[in-house]
Amino acid sequence: MKRFRVVFSALLILTLVGGLFYRSYNRVQVTEKTEFLFDTYCTVTVYSRNADQAVDAVFEEMRKIHKLTDFFDEDSEVSKINKTAKTQAVPVSDEVLQILKTANEIKDKSDGAFDVCVAPLSVLWKFDAANAQLPKPELIQERLAKVRESGLNLDLKSKTVTKQTDETTIDLGGAAKGYAGDAAVRILHNYGIKSAIVDLGGNIICIGENPTTKDKKWHIGLQKPFAATGEYSRVIEVTSGAVVTSGIYQRYFEKDGRIYHHIIDPRSGYPKEQKFKSVTVTADNSLIADCIATAVYVLGQDKGEKLAEEYGAELYFSD
Ligand code: AMP
Ligand code: MG
Repeated sequence: MKRFRVVFSALLILTLVGGLFYRSYNRVQVTEKTEFLFDTYCTVTVYSRNADQAVDAVFEEMRKIHKLTDFFDEDSEVSKINKTAKTQAVPVSDEVLQILKTANEIKDKSDGAFDVCVAPLSVLWKFDAANAQLPKPELIQERLAKVRESGLNLDLKSKTVTKQTDETTIDLGGAAKGYAGDAAVRILHNYGIKSAIVDLGGNIICIGENPTTKDKKWHIGLQKPFAATGEYSRVIEVTSGAVVTSGIYQRYFEKDGRIYHHIIDPRSGYPKEQKFKSVTVTADNSLIADCIATAVYVLGQDKGEKLAEEYGAELYFSD
């Protein structure tokens, strides 16, 4: 599946090759760039001429956030936290601190459905492995006990993080792209960009008016789960803000007719089964939308809607 995604994305990329370039859509000047970050293709499209500096600044920032949050990079801040004992406070960047602060808040509000400390469990489920196997139930229970005791205490003044247990291990896969989306918006605004769309593989952020549509709105197609790429379950129209989807159709394996996917319920240790196959969240803030999307996948529709309401977010479910 991952290979299919990469091949598909590579084909897509062939049409965008060359990094920065200009095009004309209905005589609107476009500056667009794509890079592979956060394990996905990230595209920034600015509807303005001479926007290369702004777009380059966005990618510089996104590379920095990726480097800080990459679970698999030994030198990332996330790895530093994961390797440190509970007796030591770890100094962290403003970026990681902000992600962890929001993550802790959504953990509380979702009764632990969203929890970046899920990592000891999520690494057990090898969704990308060619011959993925179900982890042994004893092992899941063992890890579950560790996750239950895990936690992070943040000191916003000293900008440090202290783990609740030595074995607390974090994975920001459910939130880092969300933060990157907000960072992109901030930078584009600083450059005076009035109209842009940022696509971080399933996380879309719309800025200002869309100059390519009659109604000036952004028409975002929601991918129909397990259907051909580009087949939509619906198209939503947004004026600005984040449109973030958590779905199970890209990272999963099948065993005995059941789908095991990458969104784990930290309270059970297993991928959460839902009637729906993806949930899309619209909200002003992309980090919040990202955390909510993952949380709602675990919580289900009723509890999910209550959580979304607290943040003024809207939910769209696709089967
Ligand atoms: P997303 O695609 O934003 O829903 O994030 C899914 C990713 O978040 C997974 O690939 C894991 O890295 C991580 N993750 C899985 N389950 C959870 C959870 N319950 N809470 C927080 N992060 C999770
Ligand atoms: Mg998420």
